[in-house]
Amino acid sequence: MPTLPLPFDESQIRDLAGRYPTPFYIYDEASIRNNARRLTTAFAWCPGFRNHFAVKATPNPHLLKILGEEGFGTDCSSLPEVMLSEAAGIVGERIMFTSNNTPASEFVGARTAGAVLNLDDLTHISFIAEHCGIPELVSFRYNPGPLRDGAGNQIIGNPEDAKYGLTRDQLFTGYEELKSLGVSRFGLHTMVVSNELNIDSFVETARMLFSLALELAETLDIRLEWVNLGGGIGIPYHPDDQPIDLEALGLAIGEIYREMIVPSGLDPLGVLMENGRVITGPYGYLVTTAIHEKRIYKNYVGVDACMANLMRPGIYGAYHHISVLGKEDAPHDVVVDVVGSLCENNDKFAIDRPLPAIQRGDLLVIHDVGAHGHAMGFQYNAKLRSAELLLEPDGKVRHIRRAETIDDYFATLTFPGLSH
Ligand SMILES: *Cc1c(COP(=O)(O)O)cnc(C)c1O
Repeated sequence: MPTLPLPFDESQIRDLAGRYPTPFYIYDEASIRNNARRLTTAFAWCPGFRNHFAVKATPNPHLLKILGEEGFGTDCSSLPEVMLSEAAGIVGERIMFTSNNTPASEFVGARTAGAVLNLDDLTHISFIAEHCGIPELVSFRYNPGPLRDGAGNQIIGNPEDAKYGLTRDQLFTGYEELKSLGVSRFGLHTMVVSNELNIDSFVETARMLFSLALELAETLDIRLEWVNLGGGIGIPYHPDDQPIDLEALGLAIGEIYREMIVPSGLDPLGVLMENGRVITGPYGYLVTTAIHEKRIYKNYVGVDACMANLMRPGIYGAYHHISVLGKEDAPHDVVVDVVGSLCENNDKFAIDRPLPAIQRGDLLVIHDVGAHGHAMGFQYNAKLRSAELLLEPDGKVRHIRRAETIDDYFATLTFPGLSH
């Protein structure tokens, strides 16, 4: 197994674990900033390019603030996510409200915040008209359905089976209706892939949206302000996976922009994305301590984190690389399951994984958890969510979320002696 580079060493983490008991998440700010710049630079040909970081990936305002400083907006699907954005200084149209099945109160909140309303259905036009009024800028989420079957993947499924967005026919009806209601600014959004490592898939999506932009201009005389390709750029979770070459992606989409948009006179057309995973995913780590070793029909290493801290392996069977601090170069010749303490047999971070011999007290680092990691945490089995730390570019470490306590867990119970 290859050794993956870490932005910290064992002694640094032992020292931190003395102050912040494991398990904890730690994010590498310098790498996140570099990576954010890399994506923006890859699309520098497009004057209106902006990535709206999907808040659900890592909903910590300290991280959102960093991404805001790098020029990003946010993509929110709930009102609390809008509030997190605003707290981090990302406001107004830098917030894309890409929600679905949205309660009226959340449309009202998003509209009040001045966020871009990206509608998920035709019926939402009258729904927002009734509840919060129709803003001057409106976007639709397009679901190409059978036109892109086979494009989806394990996480998101086939477009035809996905609950999101409007059909192609509905899109045209929708824009026409918006126009008649006095809307003057328009966006178009789609999201058909998740954790996708094939560049062609994004180029196809850009082509699909560019051709819709042309068609809308021709048939309805509607000029889109931007198209939003959604998120979904994947990351190499497994050492054998190849990352997406962001520069090549930017160039390829730039090429079809020059081929399709420029000659038709629709330039400038903004290109937006909503990537979460590829921005922070590789730069977050879950640090956990080995607390038990067990040999029955298989060999197990029990750690103090569990699926409540990171559920991707449990729900998707996702691979996450694991390093044992201080033993990176030792032979990986012991095959184990690395497990948490939930009463669920899918509470495993690794299955049949060759690792160095692990002793109690060893520190394990679970890689690539900087997106959809801590955020997917839950409290089943009365497990508590862990702390989040930020490794700053100067090497200092900031505590950006405290670990939950038993009092947090009891806080919502209306039972004497437990709640406060
Ligand atoms: C989840 C989601 C994203 C972000 O997906 P990543 O895989 O983190 O890039 C973007 N847009 C929408 C609408 C989403 O639901």
